[in-house]
Amino acid sequence: MKFDAIVIGAGAAGLAAARDLSAGGRRVCIIEARDRIGGRILTQRVTDLPLPLELGAEFIHGAAASTFSIVDAASLLTYQLPDTHHWSERGGEWSRLDNFWEQIDRLRAQIPAGRDRSFASFIRSRRSLDARQREFACSFVEGYHAAHADRISALALRSADSEAGDSDTNAQFRVGAGYDTVMNWLRAGLDPDRTDLRLGTLVTAIDWRKGEVAVATSAARGSRTETLRARAAIITIPIGVWKAPAEQRGAIRFTPELRDKKAALAKLEIGHVVKIVFRFRERFWEPRGKQLNFLHASDRFVPTYWTAAPVRAPLLTAWSGGHAADRLLAEGSDAMIDRALDSMANAFAMKRRELDAQFVAAYTHDWQADPFSRGAYSYAGVGGHAAHQRLARPLQSTLFFAGEATSGDETGTVSGAITSGRRAARELLR
Ligand SMILES: Cc1cc2nc3c(=O)[nH]c(=O)nc-3n(C[C@H](O)[C@H](O)[C@H](O)COP(=O)(O)OP(=O)(O)OC[C@H]3O[C@@H](n4cnc5c(N)ncnc54)[C@H](O)[C@@H]3O)c2cc1C
Repeated sequence: MKFDAIVIGAGAAGLAAARDLSAGGRRVCIIEARDRIGGRILTQRVTDLPLPLELGAEFIHGAAASTFSIVDAASLLTYQLPDTHHWSERGGEWSRLDNFWEQIDRLRAQIPAGRDRSFASFIRSRRSLDARQREFACSFVEGYHAAHADRISALALRSADSEAGDSDTNAQFRVGAGYDTVMNWLRAGLDPDRTDLRLGTLVTAIDWRKGEVAVATSAARGSRTETLRARAAIITIPIGVWKAPAEQRGAIRFTPELRDKKAALAKLEIGHVVKIVFRFRERFWEPRGKQLNFLHASDRFVPTYWTAAPVRAPLLTAWSGGHAADRLLAEGSDAMIDRALDSMANAFAMKRRELDAQFVAAYTHDWQADPFSRGAYSYAGVGGHAAHQRLARPLQSTLFFAGEATSGDETGTVSGAITSGRRAARELLR
């Protein structure tokens, strides 16, 4: 089959792009390094647990039109999370954080336009905030955006006053049957006569000129190599792979080089996250907070936890982003679980041996060490609030760019990735 387009990556962006291209009558080859689709959506199923475990993306954030259009088309069940947040004081006392999102949004609306600075620097300049509010604001940004507060662009976090407190924007949902069902729906819509999906195949180099691309591939296992040709390519690799040095696994060499993209990439940062889903014997937290959903703690390693609420399951997710994730990762993979349990014992005011008695299993995936993600998701560094859009710009109607890192308004989300894939397909079809 001679291809009209080659799509690199079978995550949310790549699948969405390929689906629209094949519906538009184009012959498409999708090349995916892993031996599965979904990319940073990684749903795991455990035989004696009816609930899917999400080791990558878990929530649908807010209105997320592109994700909900699939949810509707595929008749998938989603459910909304109760929006309750508690703060765990050092002694293990919990206090309820009222108006959680309103507080965050109000702060974001105070970020002045003009010269950019880091979010941490902006927070330092807000003299009206007390120590706890400062810590909470930075901890939120590090957790939610997987960012380092001293590196993330404050301007990129700035929001309009009108957004503050918008409950539609801040509502969060889960896909009941697992996030991978959204990916499966995208895959099922690929026209088999016009689409070739090659799993376990790495793209190593792309030689290109206007109207022509030659994509060099090699088998993820073994030594088979092949060069595929098409009129255009859509590249959806994550920011960590974009930034990987040429000799590293997953890195792609472009000839001629993509000078314009280098400037954008220099302004985009790789967010770090550690997400560990713990399974316990009982929902031991229930006597304290009937509908515990999110618990935030002042902790160097794990500042955030959430339950499966509203589902009544003995699952507790530990989440670290930014500097906290770096500290946890530095512990090494074996010690990391142990360290997270120490932090959890503090946040839940339990003795470590009580927690150990409840412990059943821990599930995690190292997104930083994974050669095909090399981090969690992108964020704009200082001066980089327009870099996502710059990365997205097509080159000579031949190379097109998609993926969460090319989304300006939904960076780091599944919905942003899907929208970007559909946008790139539209650009190519034009
Ligand atoms: C722990 C974690 C939690 C998250 N939680 C949420 C959440 O709750 N809600 C939310 O909306 N988002 C969340 N996200 C972000 C979300 O997962 C991503 O924004 C989205 O899945 C990105 O999709 P994508 O298509 O842009 O990239 P990917 O899904 O990364 O797809 C890119 C694909 O390219 C492939 N690839 C890479 N290099 C090569 C190569 N050289 N050759 C061939 N193929 C290659 C990769 O294997 C991958 O499949 C989370 C991410 C992580 C890591």
